[in-house]
Amino acid sequence: MGYFCTYVPEEILYAANILPVRILGGHEPPNLAAPHIFDMWCPFCRDCLSQGLSGKYDYLDGIMIAQSCLHMRQAFAAWEIHVPTPWKYYLCMPNAVRSPRAKPFLTGELVDFKKSVEEWIGLPITNKDLDKGIEIMNENRRLMKQVYEFRREDNPPITGTEAMTMVWASQLMDKREHNELLKRLVQELPSRKLDRNEGVRLMIVGSENDDRPFMEMVESIGATFVIDEHCTGSRYFWDEVIPGENRLSAIASRYCDRIPCPSKDWGPDDWNRKRFDHILKLAKEYLVEGAVLVQQKFCDPHETDIPSLTRHLESNGIPCYFLEFEVTVPVGQFRIRIEAFLEQIRAEELFV
Ligand code: SF4
Repeated sequence: MGYFCTYVPEEILYAANILPVRILGGHEPPNLAAPHIFDMWCPFCRDCLSQGLSGKYDYLDGIMIAQSCLHMRQAFAAWEIHVPTPWKYYLCMPNAVRSPRAKPFLTGELVDFKKSVEEWIGLPITNKDLDKGIEIMNENRRLMKQVYEFRREDNPPITGTEAMTMVWASQLMDKREHNELLKRLVQELPSRKLDRNEGVRLMIVGSENDDRPFMEMVESIGATFVIDEHCTGSRYFWDEVIPGENRLSAIASRYCDRIPCPSKDWGPDDWNRKRFDHILKLAKEYLVEGAVLVQQKFCDPHETDIPSLTRHLESNGIPCYFLEFEVTVPVGQFRIRIEAFLEQIRAEELFV
């Protein structure tokens, strides 16, 4: 099952012995998407659709979305019409996740979703199956958090690029296999010594980011990403399902309470951003010296957040640098800009 957006309840897919595969872009010009999505939609969603239209995901048996932002919604709608994936599902994930109605509403949506999957596979999904799905996902989250603990260290034994690759892989492969690799990694990291200078300890925050050339470039010019907050990073796995008698309600609670995407981070009468204090807490705990804020071009949810998030971090001593991402990022140009940001941080630390 291919899925758009990390609000998809993979626990139910694993319970049904279905392999969830996140739809990601190919960092290729999304030409095929142009007739279906406006060019002022985010490059990530256009790239994802273009991959589907070009047949890169023809191996999928099903495709689904958990309602996230309008951009991704449009990509899914176009995919539903123009890409011949046999089974399709739209899950209405609530936006105001802090509303008292969000959890009961989502629980109801999961009841319908489970029923549709049971009809599709022709088998019932029992509580035992759901417990299995919950444990596969929770173990994966626990193990990746253990790996992230090593990033608190001076000159961490794992780089930001490697950590992103680890999380990225968890979204594409069977998590039972991924868990076995993670267990080995947790064993190996205490004795792993990297032959590199840590440089400036950075945090990366923002829209979807799986741009390895960019991460590698920054970590080759005197810096290390020691923590992150985006949906191909910690935001994806930071929160576990707290098991409960009503399995679907427990899963619904997890997706409403998890560290939210900006498209979800509000309640019926409050615009307080739950993410901001979480990001600041991570920055403090991982001894971050600067934050790189990345936004996919035209990404409304993150565009809404970034100005006030910048103020929140900078007023708490974390200098920020904003970069706008496209399908392919100009690594050379961004190198010069990041070098200047690192210079600024080093200079400021001289006078602290
Ligand atoms: S949240 Fe932003 S980056 Fe993610 S799909 Fe929506 S517009 Fe694109």
